[in-house]
Amino acid sequence: MLIVMDKKATAEEVQRVVDIIESKGFTARPIPGGDRVSIGILNNEGPVDPALFIGLSGVKDAIPVTRPYKLVSRETKPNDTLIEVGNVIIGNGHLTLIGGPCAIESEAQAMTIAERVKEAGGHIFRGGAYKPRTSPYTFQGMGLAGLKILAKVRDTFDMPVVTEVMDTETFDRVEEYADIVQIGTRNMQNFSLLKRAGQCRRPIMLKRGMSATLDEWLMAAEYIMAGGNPNVILCERGVRTFVRHSRNTLDLSVVPVVQKESHLPIIVDPSHAAGKRDQVIPLSRASVAVGAHGLMVEVHHEPQNALSDGAQSLYPEQFTRLCRDVRRVHDMLKDG
Ligand code: PEP
Ligand code: MN
Repeated sequence: MLIVMDKKATAEEVQRVVDIIESKGFTARPIPGGDRVSIGILNNEGPVDPALFIGLSGVKDAIPVTRPYKLVSRETKPNDTLIEVGNVIIGNGHLTLIGGPCAIESEAQAMTIAERVKEAGGHIFRGGAYKPRTSPYTFQGMGLAGLKILAKVRDTFDMPVVTEVMDTETFDRVEEYADIVQIGTRNMQNFSLLKRAGQCRRPIMLKRGMSATLDEWLMAAEYIMAGGNPNVILCERGVRTFVRHSRNTLDLSVVPVVQKESHLPIIVDPSHAAGKRDQVIPLSRASVAVGAHGLMVEVHHEPQNALSDGAQSLYPEQFTRLCRDVRRVHDMLKDG
């Protein structure tokens, strides 16, 4: 149930609705909109009777919410969410380009790549310090030392950084150093992590689980929002299918569907979908053409020596070309 208040509703009228909701044992979540406030009702198991609210002064409407998710839904908040990170804005109308290595391997590696990402016009630097690896015998990331290198990149190049958090134990540490905290595909339904992300003071980039449906993905985002963090960026990174020509199958059809269902920004990671560098630029162009609000791409100056995901990492000059191409696509759509 969503209670839509009159444009002229007073703070007392809003509070009265909140009190009624809470007197029933539910949680009230006021959502300020452009010109009016709406109030979402959370933690109700069954339907809530609209008669509790219709006719109260200041109440315009009481709308049953038909989707399982509420806070992430466009029914609840019709306007697109814009997320500000430093001087970068992510969301409708903006094309945010994120580049960097799969993993931070050394200060020299991170600084070399960051310089090239910045030169190409990238807005945000990526790099994993804690890596979820299929094999326990492969490079697991530099941990805290990697986070410190990310902080140096941010200070040197004046670029926000995004990095993955793998567990609740290291969450405080990652939150301290990251500008955006990434939750990876393997953790999309790690509910303890999602609850902790709800209390995070940084935006969360929530990657789609490798076989997650739209509803499962949006419900995972709902956990974060219900926990109190409204700043969630969705990231499509390919889903597992039967094909062998790519690591995963990039599900571009999900982009317009997410935009219809949710007000949250959605970006695309073509690198983990492709698994091979030669597919990354075409998939990036297509992602922007289909309406993605940004891209996250792996870049390495020496991919043959990369400690993870070298085969899908672009050379810096390829990233430069990618940025140029996708800006053209974005501008063309804007003008049209
Ligand atoms: C990554 O971004 O480096 C990563 C591990 O991605 P995913 O969780 O999508 O596999
Ligand atoms: Mn990777």
